[in-house]
Amino acid sequence: MNQAQIRLSLEECTGCRACELACSFHRTQTFNPALSSIHVLSNNRTGERRYQVDVSCDVCKNEAVPLCIKYCAYKAIKLP
Ligand code: SF4
Ligand code: SF4
Repeated sequence: MNQAQIRLSLEECTGCRACELACSFHRTQTFNPALSSIHVLSNNRTGERRYQVDVSCDVCKNEAVPLCIKYCAYKAIKLP
């Protein structure tokens, strides 16, 4: 369990936040971005984006592919 185990490329990320929905489903079987381990934050004024992965990320150990990776249509998240 290590937040350094997934990487998000902000150059490829569009800020759609589908990864947050996927992660909340992994964690709670509900779609609630507030319960996601990953958060993508966009500044609506400047367009600047940043992300954070908190310590609750278990790298989807029960999944063949981490759900945030699987459902990012832009292939912005990767394992190192
Ligand atoms: S699903 Fe992919 S493109 Fe969308 S916010 Fe997450 S990392 Fe960015
Ligand atoms: S690897 Fe799994 S637990 Fe970690 S942020 Fe992605 S979906 Fe959430």
